[in-house]
Amino acid sequence: MGGEGARWDTARINDLNEILGFYSLSYWYAWQVTVLGLGPVWMSENEEAKQLVGKLLESGSIFGFGLSEQTHGADIYSTDMILTPTENGWVANGPKYYIGNGNVAGRLSVFGKFADTDEYVFFLVDTQAPQYELKKNVVADQMYVSAFDLHDYPVTKADILHTGKAAWDAALATVNVGKVNLGWASIGICEHAFYEAVTHADHRVLYGSKVTTFPHVRRMFADAYARLLAMKLFAARSADYFRQASDDDRRFLLFNPITKMKVTSEGERVIDLLWEVIAARGFEKDTYFEQAASDIRALPKLEGTVHVNLALVLKFLPQYLMASGEYADVPVRQDAADDEYLFAQGHASGLGKITFAPWRPALERYQHLPNVARFLEQVDAFTALVMSAPPSQEQQKDLDFLLTLGQLFTQVVYAQLVCESAGLPRPGTVADMPGLDDAHIDRIFAVFVQDVSEIAVGLHGQASATDAQREAALGLIRAPHIDPAAEAAFVDEVVGLADGYLMPQ
Ligand SMILES: Cc1cc2nc3c(=O)[nH]c(=O)nc-3n(C[C@H](O)[C@H](O)[C@H](O)COP(=O)(O)OP(=O)(O)OC[C@H]3O[C@@H](n4cnc5c(N)ncnc54)[C@H](O)[C@@H]3O)c2cc1C
Repeated sequence: MGGEGARWDTARINDLNEILGFYSLSYWYAWQVTVLGLGPVWMSENEEAKQLVGKLLESGSIFGFGLSEQTHGADIYSTDMILTPTENGWVANGPKYYIGNGNVAGRLSVFGKFADTDEYVFFLVDTQAPQYELKKNVVADQMYVSAFDLHDYPVTKADILHTGKAAWDAALATVNVGKVNLGWASIGICEHAFYEAVTHADHRVLYGSKVTTFPHVRRMFADAYARLLAMKLFAARSADYFRQASDDDRRFLLFNPITKMKVTSEGERVIDLLWEVIAARGFEKDTYFEQAASDIRALPKLEGTVHVNLALVLKFLPQYLMASGEYADVPVRQDAADDEYLFAQGHASGLGKITFAPWRPALERYQHLPNVARFLEQVDAFTALVMSAPPSQEQQKDLDFLLTLGQLFTQVVYAQLVCESAGLPRPGTVADMPGLDDAHIDRIFAVFVQDVSEIAVGLHGQASATDAQREAALGLIRAPHIDPAAEAAFVDEVVGLADGYLMPQ
């Protein structure tokens, strides 16, 4: 199906996400939920459904993904969308909430349960059918995030995409594809907001000085830029692993929730820093910033909240630290390939058995840099903490405690891929970062060192932490090294982005 050259090319799609995010998350959202809607169809063995959706796609339809419900949030086990058997198939009844494109989608892939067997099911729904009641857009925005109900909606075998465990697996695999898009949308938003903030600050003179000369403003710009570089380096490298994925190499399943949870959370921090600088101007209706400031908040909440993704990440911790896996090197993947495996991921289980290659060499490559050296000390202290004072049985049920550990672990994986990415140029692509050198890596790691110290203080303060854990947590604290001359050069580079892009009015 599809025209000549049609393919799922993650590298090219990442670029598209970044560009759509750069201009407006509303444009991006219509595309994102279309991808989510197509996922269960492309993973299905129902050829008739594939043909139908293919034709609709060619004629310009958009699609949507009906998983969430108002009363159940992340608890998708408890769906109230029920399919009851009839003579000709089934009738579907139930509500869905937060469903993008539900006003006009050519078809929605909807998740529910069979009344008689209690099995899960994914089925196609026509938003224009009389049994489909569009209730409202739940947000006041250009994007349409619908609430709808089905009333005795007729479902035949031709509409069924997946049943039983396959329906569950298709939901998770589709969301895995979507999570990549979220990270790149966040990058696009931050880039546009960055241009606006630095341009505004560089033209603004207060008390006879440019705002870009204030020390705190310079530090905030440096932190924001370092965070943004890291987001991009991590996301570009993790895409190589997605594209290289196979049944024998499922490491992407760790990098995937981090692309979603960490990159989008970092996006929030970038916008927060920039907003401190742009201040009142960030509220004005003729700016991109005003929209970015609220849009950036949505991304960590889509496709599972940060907590849900952190809980997922924790499953990989033992095997990651053990680093006993053997894999061929993963090259830069900017080639024009069709990433078919992402739509044939199969079962969603066995995450704790996925092995990882040694990750330390990636960091050690940059250990001559002061902040990377400090970060490595923190990693050693973290490993010692996990080995010498692991969570007790009681703490293993304390998600608040575990999530703090998960943040520390995430930071190690994030740093590994940032280092790998920095050593692998991507010339001629949107993810290319010409001029990236040791000074940039060191400044990125200055942020990482500070972040690990802050999370360690959080762990120290956890109500259920033992004395041994508290002591071990304090062993992670280090101060970042900031060399005044290097910092001045770094900030000058950032301020040099002023007037680099201005949205036409
Ligand atoms: C703008 C927008 C568009 C959306 N579009 C779609 C769409 O097109 N299709 C669709 O199906 N959904 C869509 N969603 C829904 C989105 O996926 C949900 O927000 C998400 O599933 C979480 O549900 P919730 O926000 O109700 O949080 P809740 O599930 O109510 O979470 C409450 C709290 O509990 C925590 N929590 C919940 N479960 C766990 C867990 N297992 N482990 C740790 N912590 C947990 C959460 O982190 C949070 O702090 C959209 C949401 C938004 C905001």
